[in-house]
Amino acid sequence: MTGMTSTARPFLNRRLADFGTTIFAEMSALALRTGSINLGQGFPDTDGPEEVREAAVRALRDGRGNQYPPGPGVPELRTAIAGHQRRRYGLTFDPDTEVLVTVGATEAIAATLLALLEPGDEVVALEPYYDSYAACIAMAGAARVPVTLRPDPEQARFRLDLDELRDAVTDRTRLLLINTPHNPTGTVLTREELTAVAELAVERDLLVVTDEVYEHLVFDEAEHVPLATLPGMRDRTVTIGSAGKTFSFTGWKVGWVTAAPGLVSAVRAAKQYLTYVASGPFQYAVAEALALPDTYFDGFRADMLTKRDLLAAGLTEAGFAVYRPAGTYFITADIRPLGAALSEKGDGFAFCRSLPERAGVVAIPNAVFYDHREAGAPFVRFAFCKRKTVLEEAVARLKALAG
Ligand SMILES: *Cc1c(COP(=O)(O)O)cnc(C)c1O
Repeated sequence: MTGMTSTARPFLNRRLADFGTTIFAEMSALALRTGSINLGQGFPDTDGPEEVREAAVRALRDGRGNQYPPGPGVPELRTAIAGHQRRRYGLTFDPDTEVLVTVGATEAIAATLLALLEPGDEVVALEPYYDSYAACIAMAGAARVPVTLRPDPEQARFRLDLDELRDAVTDRTRLLLINTPHNPTGTVLTREELTAVAELAVERDLLVVTDEVYEHLVFDEAEHVPLATLPGMRDRTVTIGSAGKTFSFTGWKVGWVTAAPGLVSAVRAAKQYLTYVASGPFQYAVAEALALPDTYFDGFRADMLTKRDLLAAGLTEAGFAVYRPAGTYFITADIRPLGAALSEKGDGFAFCRSLPERAGVVAIPNAVFYDHREAGAPFVRFAFCKRKTVLEEAVARLKALAG
């Protein structure tokens, strides 16, 4: 694929041959070398709530989770995850049979795909992809079938082409892999789009894996609709969540799966041989985090909204065409309005390689998230989960592009 720049790797097997190193390593090194502000990688530069951090300290001191926690996750956390899904979405899951704690959403994705896919199966996934999807599909020996989210300048968003989705499904399709709110485009799939996904899944009897790690980062009028809430979906959907993005503790690596018992058992079978268990004390802290009052979630969203608006305005002023995200903490911008010379003829790779020298800011070329690279060529991604002063400085630097 796609997500990676390849170097010669004489030992790497064929399944992973295209997955040598990620673009993030290259761009982060470039940021360091040039003293640039790194808006490439999507992690916050401040920690989450103090009381949640203290809860982890307490668990560690009290000896909770310092030894192997139970395989499915500590009961307190499984109960908290089930409670969260019930309160927010009216979805009921049995904490004992329908919830599995994983090592971040990353392990949830890996274990789910390794458990559910046979070699030769096809996975229909939304392009641009989060980078681990393609690698995990490859590790499972399956094939990915991309459906490209298309920029719609009129709606100022990337949208799902429902005919294209329908045409991508074949007799070999095992599952649909969905991500909403969507990284990197910032699209939040509408109820109408998701209803069409659900109808297709029911009609073709497909499983659906849905990555909803940005469920709490939804702005303006947009609404996060969990796929599992739609008719016919609860028992054919594996929903993936994570504490990393919602609570700004990406280093803790606490994620989860909610699904019907048969699916959870299958995912657990793979998960137990990947890591067995992890993050013991952090699991207790995340259980407390999920029970925080709405004021936490509202405040977090409001803070990110201010940051989105700050960066979106700065990018617009610098000359980019901005697709204002309805969700996530990423902005995808089109570089072409900057002009042929400044935008490196619309080549996002060349643009991101020269941006640190030109403006002291690092972004990621969206093309790395595509199989159809040409479809992603003119787009670049900026993360806005950074301190306000950092974003202000980035915006000031980017003004250099406008002359
Ligand atoms: C960050 C991210 C993940 C990984 O989450 P972890 O909990 O850190 O493993 C998965 N999916 C998407 C879309 C992400 O942006």
